[in-house]
Amino acid sequence: RADEAMYENKRRIKSGVPGGTEEEEALAAGLWGAAERGELRVHYQPVVELPTGEINGMEALVRWEHPERGTIPPGVFIPIAEKTGAIEEIGAWVLAEACAQVAQWRAGGRRLHLGVNASPRQLTGGFADRVIRTLAETGFPATELIIEVTESVQVENPAVVAELHLLHGHGVRIALDDFGTGYSTLRYLTQLPIDILKIDQSFVAVLNGTANGAMVTDTVLRLGRMMNLTTIAEGVESAEQATELVELGCRSAQGYHFARPMPAAELTALLYPAEVSSAATS
Ligand code: C2E
Ligand code: MG
Ligand code: MG
Ligand code: MG
Repeated sequence: RADEAMYENKRRIKSGVPGGTEEEEALAAGLWGAAERGELRVHYQPVVELPTGEINGMEALVRWEHPERGTIPPGVFIPIAEKTGAIEEIGAWVLAEACAQVAQWRAGGRRLHLGVNASPRQLTGGFADRVIRTLAETGFPATELIIEVTESVQVENPAVVAELHLLHGHGVRIALDDFGTGYSTLRYLTQLPIDILKIDQSFVAVLNGTANGAMVTDTVLRLGRMMNLTTIAEGVESAEQATELVELGCRSAQGYHFARPMPAAELTALLYPAEVSSAATS
């Protein structure tokens, strides 16, 4: 009994979401081992060059095929995995899976970069080593990998900052995701080795051909040019938005207007249309 109680208690601590709802608790428990059980999928959203629309990379976005509940989006389970710590094994799996897949696409002759999201909790001691090991194992080039972090990254934690500098020193590029929606923005730019700013979709959504609508997007694009950073607009949903972004000097974008996130096999068909019937896809 005592053993069982202790085990149960450990399980609770391991899977528990502090202050979580019953729903969260249930999802939290199921997240442990989800990668090992084969319940996770990576979808890939093309990142295109403006104005040509040519695909020059992609972002890996994880989905959870829950055995009873069907597909659960990352916006629901990533925050839970962050709280419980399951994000570490999930993140490691996504990185390995995506590097292997994009390495295969690159082997077909396309030059493609890969963005992988990393939550604050993943950015602990050893993160850079794990990433570098995965690159070696998958043969994916460091300079084509982009680690996307948000402004929730602990910039005051020297260990976190050191991990990002280690990665950057190895050639991996670092992107600030959802740029402008967080806080102390400029401090991130001075303390972290940032290469890319991803303009949050909320700023793209308000583009309407007026100076007022373009205020934030224009400011971020100017900041990017001044600091010699690449800028990628997120959440481009219309031709009008794409045109306005080109006029504002944005050269890279992703969004439903170009392509939704999709399973690897679908993207293979887009990347290698002529070979799709004969190509080995994963
Ligand atoms: P994010 O990194 O900012 O990813 C962009 C999100 O915007 C994705 O949602 C994508 O599907 C969505 N999106 C793309 N184009 C459009 C558009 O034109 N309109 C609209 N309305 N949305 C668009 P998704 O896949 O649901 O992912 C949500 C968030 O979950 C991501 O935001 C990222 O923060 C997190 N996430 C996803 N995969 C991972 C992962 O493997 N690890 C970690 N740590 N976080 C992840
Ligand atoms: Mg992202
Ligand atoms: Mg984003
Ligand atoms: Mg986001």
